[in-house]
Amino acid sequence: MAIFEQISGTGHEQIVFCNDKATGLKAIIAVHDTTLGPALGGCRMWDYKSEEEALEDVLRLSRGMTYKAAVSGLALGGGKSVIIGDPKKLKSEALFRTFGRFVDSLGGRYITAEDVNIRVKDMEQVALETNFVTGINSRVGGSGDPSPVTAWGTFNGLKASVKHQLGKDSVNGLKVAIQGTGAVGGHLARFLADEGAEVFVADINEKKVDALVKEIGAKPVELSKIHSLEVDVFAPCALGGCLNDETIPQLQTQVIAGAANNQLLDETKHAAMLKERNILYAPDYVINAGGLINVYQELQGYDPEAARKRAAGIYDTLLSIYETADNQGITTLQASDKIADDRINSVGGMKDLRNTAENQLWINA
Ligand code: NAD
Repeated sequence: MAIFEQISGTGHEQIVFCNDKATGLKAIIAVHDTTLGPALGGCRMWDYKSEEEALEDVLRLSRGMTYKAAVSGLALGGGKSVIIGDPKKLKSEALFRTFGRFVDSLGGRYITAEDVNIRVKDMEQVALETNFVTGINSRVGGSGDPSPVTAWGTFNGLKASVKHQLGKDSVNGLKVAIQGTGAVGGHLARFLADEGAEVFVADINEKKVDALVKEIGAKPVELSKIHSLEVDVFAPCALGGCLNDETIPQLQTQVIAGAANNQLLDETKHAAMLKERNILYAPDYVINAGGLINVYQELQGYDPEAARKRAAGIYDTLLSIYETADNQGITTLQASDKIADDRINSVGGMKDLRNTAENQLWINA
């Protein structure tokens, strides 16, 4: 495998391969870009079919984190890590503490957090060996569950999208369809109902749907129909790939604004298809940045109000993305990538900012 060829194409600064025979730890830490600050991104545990697949995943995810932090105006770079193996068989205190030592060895260039198959308890074991951890339990000084802040950011991003596309200042009286009423989708439904929106919901877990029907008067919809309802806003809050060749022609909405990651099955093609249909798409990595904003706040001493306030700034971020997209005739996804790139490039030229960002790390150490 030509690793240097692969990472120079994606612009990665550093890849660390971590191996520990005693605990069975095989992990890869990818530091994509530290121009704006330390590379922050979650640790994912997955039983990858091959080492190549794990490397590809960590390279893709860490690059995404750079863009998310940059467009959100945070003093953070992008990174991510993966632990290779079956979480049910491999998890142990020793494994996570060993991983923590590898994270620590980078001296704060990479800050880790929870991701798929990693629980708060696992991160607390990592935190026994390093200070470069976020997203730990509020009981031990962390920011805890990020989903309320993610949902608050998504709600504000949805309102910005409604303002731009429909000229409305409020969601009062609008119809919103939410696909997936888990941690984020559930909170989002409540924020929308509080402001007077008519909320339609679908989830593979019927209990979650029933609870929202009782609590906020949400209207239940069949799983296969939620994306094609005639509504003002469709909010994907379940899994990735929900906007694709099959679903895009069926949409009967003018706005897509939801928290799910990787909503576009093919980023370039499907962003263009939505633009073609004049459906406004809130880029997922922008509108769901509340989770990252929450852990960023944790680095500075966690204050839930400050996190919510910063997440509400997603409103202005999206409005400027929509303006750029309109002015330049590009997709909203291209516009947000461009704003992120411009910020990294302009700040990259400022000699001493890198030091400032590194100093920030030592506050946490
Ligand atoms: P969650 O697991 O709590 O909720 C997901 C919900 O989707 C579950 O209730 C599940 O039953 C449902 N679901 C799964 N498949 C479905 C389908 N085919 N149709 C309808 N419903 C389906 O997860 P979450 O934390 O609410 O995250 C939701 C999405 O937002 C994910 O894509 C996640 O990556 C993204 N996200 C979450 C956060 C966060 O702070 N939790 C931050 C950024 C992005």
